[in-house]
Amino acid sequence: MTENCNGIDCDQCGTCCKVFGDSISPTIENVYHWLTNDRLDILRHFSACFANGTWKKCSGLQVDELGDIITVEMRDPDTGALVSACPFLSRVSKNRYLCSIHMAKPEMCDNYKPWIWGETYLRRCRTIREQERKTSWQDENVT
Ligand code: SF4
Ligand code: SF4
Repeated sequence: MTENCNGIDCDQCGTCCKVFGDSISPTIENVYHWLTNDRLDILRHFSACFANGTWKKCSGLQVDELGDIITVEMRDPDTGALVSACPFLSRVSKNRYLCSIHMAKPEMCDNYKPWIWGETYLRRCRTIREQERKTSWQDENVT
């Protein structure tokens, strides 16, 4: 979920978070920021894999271990299993969703642009559909 879609405010439909949210992978900088700001509420939802193949819950990491991490994955905080949805997506009304960690969300969420053609293009993005509807209406009304 992003605040702005190509100059137009995100419609907060939550679709991008529902589609990609279970595979969010934070950067080491994200993890460092959460560790140094005591964001255990976020860290508990991630596990880190080290170069030697071992895994550790991010909530138990020390800052001096960050250099040995090769990947970080979203995992169930109780079982360690892969998750099927981002736990930070919050439904605030029938058709509106918000990111409950908006100010501290992972970099890939911050940078996500659903209008860029390719791997992350999302035809179902409500803002893109609204843009297309307006463009089509304008085209039809050009004389
Ligand atoms: S962390 Fe926030 S922005 Fe990222 S997928 Fe989850 S709810 Fe969406
Ligand atoms: S799919 Fe588009 S409109 Fe919906 S939350 Fe994501 S960026 Fe916003």
